[in-house]
Amino acid sequence: MKNWKFIDIYLKSKNLIFKEKEVLAPYTTIKIGGPCMRMIFPKSVEELIDLLVFLEREEVPYFILGGGSNLLVGDKGFEGVIINLRKLEGIKIIKKEKNKLVIKALAGTSINKLVSFGFKEGFSGLEFLVGVPATLGGAIKMNAGAFNSSVSEVVKKVELYKNGEVKVVSSSSDLWGYRWFKEEGVILSAELELLKKEREKIWLRMKSFIEKRKKTQPFLERTFGSVFKNPPCCYAGWFIEACGLKGFQIGRAKISEKHANFIVNLGGARAEEVIKLIQKAQEEVYLRFQTFLEPEVKFLGCNL
Ligand SMILES: Cc1cc2nc3c(=O)[nH]c(=O)nc-3n(C[C@H](O)[C@H](O)[C@H](O)COP(=O)(O)OP(=O)(O)OC[C@H]3O[C@@H](n4cnc5c(N)ncnc54)[C@H](O)[C@@H]3O)c2cc1C
Repeated sequence: MKNWKFIDIYLKSKNLIFKEKEVLAPYTTIKIGGPCMRMIFPKSVEELIDLLVFLEREEVPYFILGGGSNLLVGDKGFEGVIINLRKLEGIKIIKKEKNKLVIKALAGTSINKLVSFGFKEGFSGLEFLVGVPATLGGAIKMNAGAFNSSVSEVVKKVELYKNGEVKVVSSSSDLWGYRWFKEEGVILSAELELLKKEREKIWLRMKSFIEKRKKTQPFLERTFGSVFKNPPCCYAGWFIEACGLKGFQIGRAKISEKHANFIVNLGGARAEEVIKLIQKAQEEVYLRFQTFLEPEVKFLGCNL
C-alpha cells in the first residue's frame, strides 16, 4: 500500500501537474480503461527525469503513456502512476542542408505535428504515419511502420533514461526489428533526419496514405490499430478472416468488418470483452492453421 499523500506532497513541491484517480479510457484511442492512482504530466525532460528518479527510489509502479494508440487498459485500471507525456513536446531544427533536415523532438510530440513540420519545411520522412494518433516516443518504442516504411528509417539518435542514467544511442540496424526497439528505458527525445522533397509531392503522399487507410481500415473508429503482429508468412488479418471472424462481436467489442486485424469499440465496450475477442481469434487461428498470433497491442492492468 503506497502512501499517496506523501507522493502528492512531492508532486506539489515540484510544481508537477497531476490528476488523482484519473480514468484512463479518454487517454486511449479505443476509449477503454479504468482509473490510475495518479496521472502526471511532466513538461520538460528535467521534470521527467526527476520524477522517474523519485518514483524508482520510492518503488512506485509507473507506466509511460504516449498517445495511447496501441494500448488496452483493464477495466479496473492501474494501481500506480501514469506518466502522460503529451505535454513533453517540441521540435527544434539541429541542422538544415540543401537536401537534408535534422530535427530533435521531445518524446511526447505527436507524429502528426512532426509530419506537418516536415511538410511546412519541405522535407519528407514520416508521412507513412500521417493520421496515426501516436507520439514520437511510442512510435519509436513500437518501431511503428506502414506502407513498407518504418520509424527506424528516420530516427538517427535516441535519448533514453534508464536506472538513473541518461544516454544517447545512435541508430543502427541491430537496434530495430518488426514492431520493437531493442533499448529499454524511457525515451526522452530523438533526432530525426528528413529528406528534401517538393511540398506538392509530400502533400500527395499524405493524401494517398490517408485515403488508403480510410478504404481498408476502420481508421476513424475507436480502435488501437492492429491487434496482432503479422506472422512471418502472411497477414494476421487474413488468418482471422479465413476463420470467419470478421464482424464477430462480444458485448460492445467487435472484430472490424473492414479489416479483421482491428477490434472496434462500438461504444461502452469493456477490456474484458476485447480480451475475449483476442483469445477467440488466437484459438480459432491456432486450431485451423497451427499459427500463434502474437498481440501487437500492449496491455496494462488486464487479466490475461
Ligand atoms: C487508427 C490507428 C492507426 C494505426 N496505424 C498504425 C500503423 O500504421 N503502424 C503501426 O506500427 N502502428 C499503428 N497504430 C498503432 C500505434 O499508433 C503505434 O503502435 C504507435 O507507435 C503507438 O504510439 P503511442 O504514442 O500511442 O504509444 P502508447 O500506445 O501510448 O504506448 C505504446 C507502448 O509504448 C510505450 N511508450 C510510449 N512512449 C514511450 C516513451 N517515451 N518511452 C518508452 N516507452 C514508451 C508505452 O509504455 C507502451 O508500452 C495505429 C493505431 C491507431 C489507433
